[in-house]
Order: sequence, then C-alpha cells, then structure tokens
Amino acid sequence: MHFVSAKGILSAQNGMNIYRGCTHGCIYCDSRSACYQMPHAFEDVEVKQNAPELLDLALARKRRPCMVGTGGMSDPYMPCEAELALTRRCLEIIARHGCGAAVQTKSDLVLRDMDLFVRIRDRAKCVVQMTLTTADDALCRVAEPNVCPTGRRYEALKVLQREGIPTVVWMTPLLPYINDTEENVRAILDLCFDAGVRGVLTFGCGLTLRQGDREYYYAALDRHFPELKEVYIKNYGNAYELPSPRAARLRELIVTACRAHHVMTDTDEIFAWLRHLPDPYPQMRLPL
Ligand code: SF4
Repeated sequence: MHFVSAKGILSAQNGMNIYRGCTHGCIYCDSRSACYQMPHAFEDVEVKQNAPELLDLALARKRRPCMVGTGGMSDPYMPCEAELALTRRCLEIIARHGCGAAVQTKSDLVLRDMDLFVRIRDRAKCVVQMTLTTADDALCRVAEPNVCPTGRRYEALKVLQREGIPTVVWMTPLLPYINDTEENVRAILDLCFDAGVRGVLTFGCGLTLRQGDREYYYAALDRHFPELKEVYIKNYGNAYELPSPRAARLRELIVTACRAHHVMTDTDEIFAWLRHLPDPYPQMRLPL
C-alpha cells in the first residue's frame, strides 16, 4: 500500500475510485488489464489520501445534488479501509452535500457504514451493490480468495434489507465451465429474491479477458482447474468476450425468474435507476 495526493476524484459520470489496485485477489479481475496502465503492482494499493477533500470541493461546485458511485475499478471496502476509513469519510461528505450514493463491493465490511447509508437514503438515495458469482462458498474462496464468501455477502444483503437500503446484485462473471450452471444461477437468484434485491446484473452471462487479466486468470486455471486452460484457448482464442456456452439458456432463466419476482435485470434500466436521483424537495416546487 502506498499513498498519493490525487489531482481529481470524480469522473464525468460522478464515479470515484478512492483506491487503485485491489487485494481481494479475484482470479478474473478486469482491473488488472494492461490497458489501465497501472504503474505499480496490483496488490500494492494506491491510496488517494486526499480523496475526501477533493470530493468535498467537487460536490461544492455542483449546481444540484447528484448520485456518486464508487467501486467500479477497486473495492472500496478492502481490509485497508477498516483502518483508513477513507470510504467512510467520503460517505460523510456525500451525506453533508445531500447527494446520493451507489456503492459496489464484495465485502461485508460495508455494514460498518450503515448509519451513513441510512442518512444518505433519508435525504437523497443510497444503493449498495454486491457481487455474487457462486452459491458455493468453497468455489467462492477459489475464485475470490481474499474477501468474505457468498454466505456472508448474503447475510450482509439481508441486513441491508432489514434497514431499508435497496440493493443490486452483480451476478457476474459467469466463468465458462466453472460457475455457469443452471443450478448455480438458480441458487444465486434464490438468495437475491430472499434478500429483496431490486436488480440483478448479468451482462453477457460470461467473462471478459484481455492482456494482463488473461494471464492471471490462466495461471489460476492451471492451479485449480488444470484441464480448462486448453479448452478456453481452443474455444475462445484471444477473444475479449467469452460468453458461457449456456448463455442463452441462462439469460432466459434469469429474465423469467426476475420478471416473476419484479426484479430488474435489464442492464440499461438498472444503470438508469442507479444514476437517477429523485428531487428531494418536491414540496418546494412552485406551481406552473
Ligand atoms: S474486488 Fe473487483 S477490483 Fe478487487 S480483485 Fe475482485 S474484481 Fe478486482
């Protein structure tokens, strides 16, 4: 871990990454890809120590409150956050500015900040997004080795449900020949419906790989699924998108089940909802 003073924190779409790099160790992590040109080892996490100050300045310049997203490129609740509390300080600033928050994580450390999620929700909007890729905790420990497994993430979703914080599940990636089974997808959907999630994101029901990410993933296949690398090379070559051979069937299953439970699963619809911040003061509108 090393510390830097960043020049900016909010992207044009109001996304932020307080950390650069990640220690969760997911075998399929796209953030490792060479195209991001990270100048340091991926696990040597860069900490943007002035993130709260930068966020405060950026939000003060906004003409109206917005949704602020975090967790797209690096988990905001890595173990280092337990002591650094930079994500927490940023949430305090979001709350103070009356903005909304959309937080994405795989860690139940997220529950530490429940008081702030409630404050943000009461004044604006707060959504927690959790990734669930397998209902099998043993497989989860292989695919996402340094973060709490699915069972604890599900418990976290239930706590968020009890507190009235809306949630979205990222059921992605579905790794061809590993977790892309109907049985696994049905089991994750059962967890999602039981936890009352608002949306389930699946994208193409597969995996993406590119330089940097691919080598790391193939090394993990060699360690844990020794027969699979050759199958991947034969079936996908150097393709960026690796859809599950069962993608069409899985997508149909997911859409049908989500529709029956009134859960969003259309990617555009979910992202539009995540970005939308309702007017917090409708009673102050003047009559037309
Ligand atoms: S939590 Fe996200 S950023 Fe971190 S290793 Fe896993 S996929 Fe990569």
